[in-house]
Amino acid sequence: MALLQISEPGQTTAPHQHKLAVGIDLGTTNSLVASVRSGEAQTLADINGDHILPSVVRYAEQGIEVGQAAIEHAVIDPSNTIVSIKRLMGRAATDLKSLRQSSPYEFSISESVVPKIKTRAGDVSAVEVSSEILKSLKTRAIETLGDELVGAVITVPAYFDDAQRQATKDAARLAELNVLRLLNEPTAAAVAYGLDTGQEGVIAIYDLGGGTFDVSILRLKQGVFEVLATGGDSALGGDDFDHAIADWMLQQSGCKKIPTPSLVRLLMREARSAKEQLASVTEVNVKVELDDFAWQGELTRSQMQALIEPLIKKTIMACRRSLRDADVAVEDVLEVVMVGGSTRTLAVREMVGEFFRREPLVSIDPDKVVAIGAALQADVLAGNKPDDEMLLLDVIPLSLGIETMGGLAEKIIYRNTPIPVAKAQDFTTYKDGQTAMAVHVVQGERELVDDCRSLARFDLRGFPPHVAGAARIRVTYQVDADGLLTVSACEENSGVEASVDVKPSYGLTDSEIETMLRDSMDHAEDDMHSRMLREQQVEADRVVEALDAALQVDGDELLSEDEKANIAQARNQLIEAKAGDDSEIIKAAIKQVEDACADYVARRMNSNIRNAMQGHSVEEYAGNEQE
Ligand code: ADP
Ligand code: MG
Repeated sequence: MALLQISEPGQTTAPHQHKLAVGIDLGTTNSLVASVRSGEAQTLADINGDHILPSVVRYAEQGIEVGQAAIEHAVIDPSNTIVSIKRLMGRAATDLKSLRQSSPYEFSISESVVPKIKTRAGDVSAVEVSSEILKSLKTRAIETLGDELVGAVITVPAYFDDAQRQATKDAARLAELNVLRLLNEPTAAAVAYGLDTGQEGVIAIYDLGGGTFDVSILRLKQGVFEVLATGGDSALGGDDFDHAIADWMLQQSGCKKIPTPSLVRLLMREARSAKEQLASVTEVNVKVELDDFAWQGELTRSQMQALIEPLIKKTIMACRRSLRDADVAVEDVLEVVMVGGSTRTLAVREMVGEFFRREPLVSIDPDKVVAIGAALQADVLAGNKPDDEMLLLDVIPLSLGIETMGGLAEKIIYRNTPIPVAKAQDFTTYKDGQTAMAVHVVQGERELVDDCRSLARFDLRGFPPHVAGAARIRVTYQVDADGLLTVSACEENSGVEASVDVKPSYGLTDSEIETMLRDSMDHAEDDMHSRMLREQQVEADRVVEALDAALQVDGDELLSEDEKANIAQARNQLIEAKAGDDSEIIKAAIKQVEDACADYVARRMNSNIRNAMQGHSVEEYAGNEQE
């Protein structure tokens, strides 16, 4: 994969000109802000000395509370206290069915496609809630650094799709933060570790946070990184551990009633606390009391391990898949970098170590590493570094393609291609006199459009009519550094253009991405078969159409009745074959038509062609015949 570097046009700035830029880890559970000061990236603390800002927003009677203050009220005021908002970023109402069941909020989803949460301050969207977190971090940065902020690098999970990235940018805009770049979280971690000074080879980044899991496979070569693959699951993290433990507590208590939202919150909080303690002790006592509910018991580290093992196994499966994508063997992995609070769980470290067959790296605080990497990048992007400073780039998670004749998906940009990237492909018209073309942008690994996800459709209209195959339509796919796609089409002879920004109103869930990837592997053979079939069907149509057009022009003139009958028979057989599902039979039938027409084609070529248009189509037809 080509190595991409981005360098800023500005020169190195003198120290007094140092522009203030921050890196923000906008996490599902926790968020942090960091900045490079005196050449070193550090996370910034609030007035109480806390570096971590819980990603919790409460719409209280007296205004908006963010972080610890909000968390303290989560139990008594659950419906106005928003947690894990990141899970809703860029999601449409239809994506929320499962989320709604497990969350204490009331959603208002009637009028708009963007779901809103009902709070006492009115209906709020995920973008608005996230912007409160960003505002809080921005204020902290300005108060700590006392300077004008030129912008921020904000991190997102590698699996975030277009809509989710766009939502993150919108949240920043709402917080009046200039986004220098959105950066994948594991990518930021690699920067934080300054791995460019280390040994050359393959590095895996394992990031298990509260709500998301990402794995990235990078290759370090001559001081620069190449992103080989990314994978993960944006609906898996420490929260799920807490869930498993809370369920267990509820089971142990023998409580048969459906727990109230407040009790669920309390159980989750106790579960989380127990889990975190079990990173350093081997057993904890738990006591949960609320209204008429009371339970007290003991949880040992090995009991917890048994509860969460299936979840850790899921992450290991994703690691295995990413290695396969990167075409790297597990023994080629030199280092495994641990990121995210959940990598403090010893069972996670053990199982990851076992899989990769080496001790994972835990030397940088797993909570801060992403923010620190983002700060280092922000510093470069703000123009505080020399031009040759290297920036790690990200890859696209699923292939981007276009629908072609017969419902086939032609890939234009392959998955795991580093971004930014632009790729163009030329297409032509299928019918004589065609003056418009439909562009259908799809995402996914499968061969047929129906099995891929439709991202956008637009028409390129108003180019001059040409005979089939003579128009030249260049379709360009461009993915910017933030992972957002723009598609444009241009008919080159006339210069007619059309384009569309692809911003779907909702995104894919990671399980959908996974399902799509898994399907594409499971169905590789079927897909090959379907593709060949469709191709032959399209070819059959083309042959029949060209034949009919020719017959109409000079069939009576150049052919005897016998010859005509012969050709008609071959034509009928082809139409019959086309209706079936055997590409070989269609291919043979096409050959038969071609054979039956061989003399006719020769005669047409020799005869005087009456006008340019027909002449052209005969040539086309003859060309087809000889292929
Ligand atoms: P996110 O990136 O989703 O915001 P973080 O990386 O901040 O998440 O990690 C938060 C998760 O880490 C929470 O699920 C939290 O319970 C977990 N965590 C924090 N400390 C520990 C610990 N000592 N042991 C186990 N899990 C921990
Ligand atoms: Mg994180």
